[in-house]
Amino acid sequence: MSNRRRGLLFIVSAPSGAGKTTLVEHLVQILPNLRMSRSYTSRPARPGERDGVDYHFIARQQFEEMITAGAFLEWADVFGNLYGTAAADTAALMATGQDVVMVIDVQGARQVKAHGIDHTSIFVLPPSFPVLERRLRGRSKDTEEQMQRRLSTARAEVPSYVEYDYVAVNDQLEPTVVRLQEIIAAERSRTHRMRVTAEEILASFQR
Ligand code: 5GP
Repeated sequence: MSNRRRGLLFIVSAPSGAGKTTLVEHLVQILPNLRMSRSYTSRPARPGERDGVDYHFIARQQFEEMITAGAFLEWADVFGNLYGTAAADTAALMATGQDVVMVIDVQGARQVKAHGIDHTSIFVLPPSFPVLERRLRGRSKDTEEQMQRRLSTARAEVPSYVEYDYVAVNDQLEPTVVRLQEIIAAERSRTHRMRVTAEEILASFQR
């Protein structure tokens, strides 16, 4: 079928520790035609992270030059480091008909919305603040000061869920991955997005 539609853009945001990256990594493994966009960041790679895989790790100055050049679809300062999505990267993926999911913070999601770019946004909430704190403390090598900063950022971010199209509560990994799949399937099935396929089927009725 010549269903060469332009890909859809999905945004997933959540406070640090809500499990958004793990969720989306599972999601892209399960769903054909969905790719995670790879961000640029000025933060140094953590042990085990690979350049070009987890992020494009670049110097702050290079990041600032890319801002000046207008290279970013969105960018934000998160915990003192710069993070951004290159407009050309997502455009190239979407032009081939792939759907793209961006795992970005609330500030970045607002910029995409402000640009008027067609997208679907999903906010992942942890089941509660104590669960979030337990998850963060369980996995983290942060100092207490860094931990307090993450927790206060989380407190400040969660009310932003109202700005998003969908909310998923990440109580358990598998059911939440299924919920995200359902959201994506519903968005792919919207009438205006199914038009090419539907019209091809309708054409067969004329023969
Ligand atoms: P981390 O340093 O733990 O990998 O990510 C810290 C935060 O930066 C997370 O909330 C993550 O969603 C956000 N982030 C990662 N990449 C981007 C990006 O390209 N743009 C924006 N706005 N935020 C990002």
